[in-house]
Amino acid sequence: MLGDGNIFELGKWMYTYRDANGRVKKEYLEGMETFMHQEDSTQLAQESATFFWFDNWLEVGKLLDITGEQGTRYLGILRTAKHDQGDYKGFFSASRTWDQLKETREKVDWSTVVWFTQAVPRFSFINWLAIKNRLSTGDHMRVWSLQQECLLSGEKNETRDHLFFACPYSYMVWIRVTGRLFGTRITPDWQDTVVKIQYDRRSKLDKVLVRMVFQMTVYHVWKERNARRHGKAWIPLEKLPSQIDKTMRNIITSLRYSYGDKLEGLMRCLFEVTI
Ligand SMILES: [Zn+2]
Repeated sequence: MLGDGNIFELGKWMYTYRDANGRVKKEYLEGMETFMHQEDSTQLAQESATFFWFDNWLEVGKLLDITGEQGTRYLGILRTAKHDQGDYKGFFSASRTWDQLKETREKVDWSTVVWFTQAVPRFSFINWLAIKNRLSTGDHMRVWSLQQECLLSGEKNETRDHLFFACPYSYMVWIRVTGRLFGTRITPDWQDTVVKIQYDRRSKLDKVLVRMVFQMTVYHVWKERNARRHGKAWIPLEKLPSQIDKTMRNIITSLRYSYGDKLEGLMRCLFEVTI
């Protein structure tokens, strides 16, 4: 427990907890309340403790490049923030302080799509930015008089909704990795997809699987888009789905070590879907 203190809202998405002396103790991102109540959130806390704007902790580049210059303002964290400064060390830390926020904040609908026990922090974070439509896609770059067409298909107007998954490239990837999970319910529409994942009424394992695949597809498509933007080697359409699949298997395997047999079925489920 952090003791007596107050919760302040920083911008729309970010909340900070200050102690009685006004010192920042913890900061939270909108939508994490569901996650905060899960027992296994310590893993997220540890893995994300290195966060800061110029670090490549997401493995898709600097956060500053991903969110654009305005990102620091949107997230309410100073550009000069360093991960070794006490104030930011606990950026994602789980704490019961969230209980206090719950009283004043309405739960956001998409929360469980982004934050869940089996999620990997860097995938969750890119997803969170995508859901908030704060990735630095072409439409956001136009504010700075920069022109950015879709690097995956050549479409003139690069937007979040185009990339996920109205773009022929990413939609084909999405179909390949989730075709069997979604069946005829698969759609190129971003909003539709998020809502379908959010209100998935199938078994728990199916739900976890769909959320993981969704996060990884968004992450990998965004990573590929950035690689092309920075002149790195392209991954052809045929290869990206197998990369996502491989990442899925690796993560599920590592989860089995942490969670024991609880997730045994997840691996079985994945093989049933992709074989
Ligand atoms: Zn495209």
